[in-house]
Amino acid sequence: MTGVELGDGTTLSADVVVLALGSTPATRWLTGSSLRLRDGVECDALCQAAPGIYAAGDVASWHNPPFGTRMRLEHRMNATEQAMAAAGNLLGDAKPFAPVPYFWTDQYDTRIQAYGVFPPDADVRIVHGDPVDGCFAAAYGHRGRVVGVLGWNTPRQVRTLRRLVVERASWTAFTVVPALRPATVN
Ligand SMILES: Cc1cc2nc3c(=O)[nH]c(=O)nc-3n(C[C@H](O)[C@H](O)[C@H](O)COP(=O)(O)OP(=O)(O)OC[C@H]3O[C@@H](n4cnc5c(N)ncnc54)[C@H](O)[C@@H]3O)c2cc1C
Repeated sequence: MTGVELGDGTTLSADVVVLALGSTPATRWLTGSSLRLRDGVECDALCQAAPGIYAAGDVASWHNPPFGTRMRLEHRMNATEQAMAAAGNLLGDAKPFAPVPYFWTDQYDTRIQAYGVFPPDADVRIVHGDPVDGCFAAAYGHRGRVVGVLGWNTPRQVRTLRRLVVERASWTAFTVVPALRPATVN
């Protein structure tokens, strides 16, 4: 069979099928505590869930100030960095945890790297290479700003592009300013 058979017996033809599994934060043991549990343990920008209680990693959702939104990330790098930030704040740093989210994964011979956020309604532009060649970088624009960059076997290019997310570069300028055109990313 070259497709997917649905529950009602119909078959959708497909050359490749991607199976994606979700995960749920394990917060049941905290039910009944005073902590707010909504998509994980809800924390403020300091990773604080309640006075003296901090959370980090997959289980924590927190307000990321530069992005102006609540996030919960399921990435190794975030688990490490947020744990350090939460520990620092527990010891009195009082420093908001404000990273540009970063994720990488090696899938066989493909290295995928992503900086920033990727809203479903973002504009996407290939800024280096070509997906057909299995080697490209893409930029994501949302509400007039560059909010994410994705690298597919392009570690060098995506590292260069990261600054656009850090600087919240204008999406319009990104598409017209020569200095930021794909050719200069090489
Ligand atoms: C199959 C798979 C592939 C992945 N690949 C990538 C990847 O390529 N790149 C990437 O960046 N990230 C990847 N991730 C995600 C990454 O592994 C997680 O983001 C990271 O491990 C989160 O770390 P954490 O410490 O927050 O949570 P975890 O690593 O889940 O650690 C939480 C620990 O708490 C324990 N625990 C839970 N409840 C209790 C309790 N009540 N009492 C005591 N202990 C408890 C759990 O048993 C667990 O050991 C992958 C995850 C999976 C499952």
